[in-house]
Amino acid sequence: MTTVRRASVDPDNDNASLAMRAAAVLPGGVSSNVRLSAPRTFFERGRGARLWDVDGNEYVDYLLGQGPAFLGHAHPQINAAVTKAVSRGMVFGAQHVLEVEAVEKLLTAIGWADMARLGVSGTEAVHAALRLSRAATGRRRVIGFAGQYHGWLDTVLMAHGPDGARPGSAGQPAEYLADWLITPFNDVAALERQFAAHPGQIAAVILEPMMCNSGAIPPRPGFLERLRELCTANGTVLIFDEVVTGFRLAFGGAAQRFGVTPDLAIYGKALAGGWPVAAIAGRRDLLEQFGTGRVNHSGTFNASVMAAAAVSATMDVLTQEPPYAIIEAHGRALIDGLRELGNRHMVGLNVQGLPAAFHVSFRRDLSGSGEAADHAGVQALDLARYARFSRTLIRHGRRPGYLVLLGRAWRTRARRHPRTV
Ligand code: PLP
Repeated sequence: MTTVRRASVDPDNDNASLAMRAAAVLPGGVSSNVRLSAPRTFFERGRGARLWDVDGNEYVDYLLGQGPAFLGHAHPQINAAVTKAVSRGMVFGAQHVLEVEAVEKLLTAIGWADMARLGVSGTEAVHAALRLSRAATGRRRVIGFAGQYHGWLDTVLMAHGPDGARPGSAGQPAEYLADWLITPFNDVAALERQFAAHPGQIAAVILEPMMCNSGAIPPRPGFLERLRELCTANGTVLIFDEVVTGFRLAFGGAAQRFGVTPDLAIYGKALAGGWPVAAIAGRRDLLEQFGTGRVNHSGTFNASVMAAAAVSATMDVLTQEPPYAIIEAHGRALIDGLRELGNRHMVGLNVQGLPAAFHVSFRRDLSGSGEAADHAGVQALDLARYARFSRTLIRHGRRPGYLVLLGRAWRTRARRHPRTV
């Protein structure tokens, strides 16, 4: 007999019967655990910066599909390019011209990287980068940062608490995380201590160069530069996880925005106008280890026709209509407006980050600045109060990105819309 879990149905939304149907057949009523804590709103369509739910309600979308809809929902040029390409086939399991074109354009955007491979999800591209780093260095240990997210696999998923990191899921063997050294973001002294304590052992440092999965915290001046020096001095591979920041903070991502060059980088989300594509890019001597077959990186759907067409068209749109001035202007207007409202109503609203991705929450202590430098600083904010505020916004037709409930960033959309900032 089918059991419907009524407890998972959000009483605030008008989509309750669909939510009950979903709860009967989809675990938790959703298809990704990240969505478990979100309201069960069912969307019918999206266009540009707006979404419409099954009851015809219109929303301004600040979540943007968790990032992929950077150029807006259903971008006509990208969708036309993909539709045209797939009319001739979708997966050849062999080389095709579009994949070469897509990677050539991708490398032009990134600027510093020599080679790249296209895969399907950020999670697996992270996995490939860690494997490559360990193979290249012959070492096992990896430095990571509290509050950052690199996918849901056993070797990277963590729950970060005041007592340190632990497995983020039941069924995840703790020993899979044994090689990780977790340190606070933006803390140069802690980083130096890790390198000093583990000489010749650290294969890689992996990080979101701007933290976007716990607050929206840019690197402090000098932090990425010192990290680069330490990696070079210790023969450690520096991996930027640009799944969120890539093509968002600048055409060349965080590496361009902050002027620090990694050895490898992971891209996803904004890379392909909403199509499921990720990439690993980096130094030739590292990537070539896939090419010799020494390091395995495989995948049936890697660089499929639709993936390559979507990347190629997205790079064209970003080149022909660079959206970055608009993002800065709209994001800045939003940040300033929110801050002004927070001050006027004396509610301790905390708005932090950059115009392209910022985080909103409430300060517990109205006298403090609230600016967080790391995960602990984000945890000190009144995140529960923000969750209540966020639900109220959704009821009023503003969809601020329910991931913000988990401490993630509002995302600013790239294209101009007269009524939407
Ligand atoms: N890395 C970062 C920084 C992310 O934010 C995410 C997903 O949100 C991932 C990796 C995993 O990417 P995907 O969800 O495409 O597997």
